[in-house]
Amino acid sequence: MAKPGFEREQRIQFTLAEAGLSTLAIRAGQTRTAEGEHSDAIFPTSSFVYSSAREAAARFSGDEEGNIYSRFTNPTVHAFEKRMAALEGAERAVATSSGMAAILSIGLALLQQGDHVVCSRSVFGSTISLFEKYLSRAGISTTFVDPKDLHAWEAAIQANTRLLFLETPSNPLGELTDIKAVAAIAHKHDAWLAVDNCFLTPVFQRPLLLGADIVIHSATKYLDGQGRCVGGVVVGSDTLMEEIYGFIRTGGACMSPFNAWVFHKGLETLKIRMEAHERNAMEMAIWLQQQPGIEKVYYTGLESHAQHALAIQQQNGFGGVLSFEVSGDQDAAWRFIDATQMVSITANLGDVKSTITHPATTTHGRMTPEARAEAGIKPNLVRLSVGHEDIEDIRADMQLGLNAL
Ligand SMILES: *Cc1c(COP(=O)(O)O)cnc(C)c1O
Repeated sequence: MAKPGFEREQRIQFTLAEAGLSTLAIRAGQTRTAEGEHSDAIFPTSSFVYSSAREAAARFSGDEEGNIYSRFTNPTVHAFEKRMAALEGAERAVATSSGMAAILSIGLALLQQGDHVVCSRSVFGSTISLFEKYLSRAGISTTFVDPKDLHAWEAAIQANTRLLFLETPSNPLGELTDIKAVAAIAHKHDAWLAVDNCFLTPVFQRPLLLGADIVIHSATKYLDGQGRCVGGVVVGSDTLMEEIYGFIRTGGACMSPFNAWVFHKGLETLKIRMEAHERNAMEMAIWLQQQPGIEKVYYTGLESHAQHALAIQQQNGFGGVLSFEVSGDQDAAWRFIDATQMVSITANLGDVKSTITHPATTTHGRMTPEARAEAGIKPNLVRLSVGHEDIEDIRADMQLGLNAL
């Protein structure tokens, strides 16, 4: 049977060296069946059939390549993985059921009892719980460090340190870690560096090209960008990803075909979405900085940001999340948030809809007041994930917040 377009697609093997990011986001990993569909098909099936008992046996023994069961492989999930690997400049990607499952897979597939982790203290709240509460039960210990302080990273290394883990820029203050420098520290001590690249996506930062060994994403955020699905992905070398894949297929934290299809299609618009997020975020950051009632704005794109030079050096852009301190205390921050009418009050981020959050009582509410103070998350801090609404309308909504101070 003729396969329209199939041979042509087979010849298209884009890599970062050969094509631009938008091209990769649209063309890498594309699938096409004998029907010749232009948009990628979805394969919502749990299992696959064989033409004979002999063929089934060959698949199971590994003598023959092919699908068996969607916890192991699925064409839609594989398409998303190939596209993500191309975008991050990686050999391979493994899709997971959530961003947290991606981080869990690093812990359980690459580490073992007696191993030690050095982790930035400014990472996603559940990441801290995962290391502190759950991986510790498996005998994996973690030291948390100030992500900006290279001496602290080095000083925290022990003989049994196998993994360094960070998120840059951090949430919600946009603290940066020098990826190249921390990768060098990791490699000097025979450890891996894993980077959570959720806030910038490969459009604005590619940690593997800066020396990191592993990148993880919560696909739930910008990769989808429209708040439809929960998912994650791990990318890196073939060798490391084979271990991650082994854990995901055995442990069962795999991505569903439907979610993979949404993420795969979502990536097609990732570059223009990220650019639109950044354009609006930059305008809002500059405007907020000039308003009476706003004490400080945190956005790595501002020249006033303490690590603006590092941002320019290792990022291709500044992203869509900013935060600011209002005059007053927690009560003032809450009044500001409650006075807005359009932006969504939610702890989620990375959506075409702008979202507003009070970190001290939500995303960072489980920290002790002392730990929060040390991390610099004040009661008057508000986080804004800037979406794609017209900038005049976002500004008008923030003005309502300012009027309530
Ligand atoms: C949301 C988030 C996660 C966790 O991802 P889930 O998909 O919710 O499991 C991890 N890291 C960062 C930076 C996040 O924002």
